[in-house]
Amino acid sequence: MSDQELAIKIRGLRKTYRAEGATKAKEALKGVDLSIPKGSIFGLLGPNGAGKSTSINIIAGVVDKSEGSVEVWGFDIDKDMRNAKANIGIVPQEVHIDAYFTPYEIMELYAGYYGIPKEERRTMELLEVMRLQEQKDAYTRFLSGGMKRRLLVAKAMVHNPPILVLDEPTAGVDVELRQHIWEYVRELNRQGVTIVLTTHYLEEAEELCDEIAIINHGELVVCEKTPELLKQLDEKMVVIQPAQAINKVPDAIAAIGGKLNEEGAIVIHFSPSSITVGQILDKIAETDIEIADLKTEESDLEDIFLQLTKSKEA
Ligand code: ADP
Repeated sequence: MSDQELAIKIRGLRKTYRAEGATKAKEALKGVDLSIPKGSIFGLLGPNGAGKSTSINIIAGVVDKSEGSVEVWGFDIDKDMRNAKANIGIVPQEVHIDAYFTPYEIMELYAGYYGIPKEERRTMELLEVMRLQEQKDAYTRFLSGGMKRRLLVAKAMVHNPPILVLDEPTAGVDVELRQHIWEYVRELNRQGVTIVLTTHYLEEAEELCDEIAIINHGELVVCEKTPELLKQLDEKMVVIQPAQAINKVPDAIAAIGGKLNEEGAIVIHFSPSSITVGQILDKIAETDIEIADLKTEESDLEDIFLQLTKSKEA
């Protein structure tokens, strides 16, 4: 992928925190490369402490990197932080909004901060998109948690950046609001905004992201298009206990991968995208095997996540 097609390009990114008085420096990022395509919804996943916030904070210019390079919309943060910042909006995880301003005032303040002329401001448009038009003059302290979150998104969009970074957008929100936020993220993306989100909810990444990078202990574990990543999970296992002991798996069942285990049960590993449990059972029904018991097991994102993050632990 050429550089022009990248919204964010990160190479060899390292961060060592040297806390004052601490005996040991903390290596939070150990040389991370990331290529985030323009127009994508890109997920940065990892368990707590993996280095997600550190990465986001470096991109946002809030934390200084130790080594490596970061380009935002083609602008190197070392050479042109001003333009890099102009092209990105960050929605922080924590909801810190001045309680004594109204949403309208907050939007106008930020527009002023970015030097956007009055006639180019989109205050009401953004408040409407975030369904906050009715609350525009309410003190922010009277807004619900969900409304405050939406206001943070509106605020991050004030300067109309082509990239929006959402740090744990649905941490601690209820299911209904989570769905609403997802729908909104999709809508922004349809309008052409590149979305980068950090999450430790696999379901969220699976639902929303075109591409997923998993980091753990400051290292990139995997970075793949979501369907490719999910393909690795496309395996289920069915265990069939025959009513009468058998000493050989019938050919028709062996043909779909059936094997006998030590307990005399037939174990079949299969890809749900190519064969269903129903079809497997139909094949069993065509033999003279009577089923005494049956169970299925599947690997889910949680499994692969553990698998991928564990393998890096030493
Ligand atoms: P994540 O966002 O994935 O939970 P972070 O980027 O917050 O991870 O943290 C990565 C590692 O760096 C963790 O071990 C964390 O304790 C450490 N860390 C983060 N911020 C600081 C800091 N300001 N000083 C020292 N260590 C830090």
